[in-house]
Parts: sequence; structure tokens; C-alpha cells
Amino acid sequence: MLALPVEGREPDAPGWSVRVVPNKYPAFRRQEVVIHSPKHKRSIAELGAEQLELVAEAWRLRAAAAANEGRTIFACVNEGRAAGASLLHSHSQLFWLDAEPPLAEAERGGTCRLCRFLELERAEGARVVEERGGLVLLCPYASRSAYECLIAPLEHEGHAFPSPLLGPALELAAEALRRLAAREGPRPANLWLHEAGHWHLELLPRLSVIASLELGAGHYINTLAPERAAERLRDLG
Ligand SMILES: [Zn+2]
Ligand SMILES: [Zn+2]
Repeated sequence: MLALPVEGREPDAPGWSVRVVPNKYPAFRRQEVVIHSPKHKRSIAELGAEQLELVAEAWRLRAAAAANEGRTIFACVNEGRAAGASLLHSHSQLFWLDAEPPLAEAERGGTCRLCRFLELERAEGARVVEERGGLVLLCPYASRSAYECLIAPLEHEGHAFPSPLLGPALELAAEALRRLAAREGPRPANLWLHEAGHWHLELLPRLSVIASLELGAGHYINTLAPERAAERLRDLG
């Protein structure tokens, strides 16, 4: 379907670094799997910046293909069985949707709430882990789980797929997972992209089980304050 890098090799010939294939057991009508490396890697934490740049490029190219058909893409990473991964080789999923997912749309609102949120977070500073190359990594106020992370461009950007910051944002997510693994051991994690509005990545490591209270009532029990989580992730930088 797609194999990167494109230059210097025949399509479907060996030598690919990142490859996109159709999901054999789609939960949605159309779903693709992005294989992050020909080598056995379990987590994006094990991938270098160059490799993550190719992942971003694969997302970007498939998003363009989807846009040609009037569709939009929800891109996400599940790591570990507890986080929904059925494949233990680092990969991401691209769901072809007819419209922006409701959660992303609800966050967006009229004026940009994320711009305001980032302004408040940066003014307070306690939950900011790192700012790098026009991006911020922070453990947001009212985190749903221990070490929940948000990665977003500091300046408002309407769409992720055309942005040169998408690859570096994935690298920042990988960095957060590396620091988390150094502190707590490797953990299952969910990572997804909210592509439109003020685009951002949300990273939810699974240190506890999400069950009825969380799913049914929307109450998330978080035993680690985001300020403490940010402090710990900063210390490991
Ligand atoms: Zn904004
Ligand atoms: Zn979001």
C-alpha cells in the first residue's frame, strides 16, 4: 500500500523502513496499519527521530489519500495488550472516518480552548515537562491517569498532517515513554492524534486498569498528581 522511503527502491521490495498495510481484521470499514520498523521494536520509545519522521510522513501521505476521497483519518498507537494492541511490534492504526471524531470536535469549540489552556499551563509551569522546537510536553491539569501527557505546538496550528512538527511531536511522545520506562518499567500506553483544531497528541500510559467507573461515569481515579508526574519526567530528562 505504501512503503517508505520511496527513493532508491522498488515498491514492495525489501529495504523499507516504514510500511502501511490494510488491517486484516478491521473494526471499522477501512483501517490501515503502519508498521514502524522492519526490525523488532516493541515501542515507539525504541525508535529514533529519523524513523519517527518516516512514521509522520506515512500518516501524512495516507491522510492526503483519505482527503482525496473526502474522508479524514484518526491516527493512534496502542502499545501492550492492556492498551488494546494485538500486535507486539510497534505500529500505529489509521482509521478512515467520514467526519472528525466527536471527542476531537467537542474539544475544539468556537475559539481555541487549547491556546488558552497552554497559556495557563505555561504561566503556572508546574505541569510542564519540556518545551522544545516549538512544541510543549506537559502533564495536563485534571489528568485522567498517572503520567498522562499532552504534546502540542506552542503556536496555534490548525492541522497536524501538513505540519513539519508532527514528526518531532511523535519523538517527544517517544521521549516521554522512554522516561516513563526508566522510572516505572515499560508500560502499555495509548497515544492518539487529534488532527484538527489546535492539533495535539494525547498519551495515556496504562499504570492502572480503566474499568466501569471511568468508562461509565467518566470519573478517572488518578493516584499521581500531574505536578508530581511532570516533576518526575523532568528529573529524568
Ligand atoms: Zn490554538
Ligand atoms: Zn484532544
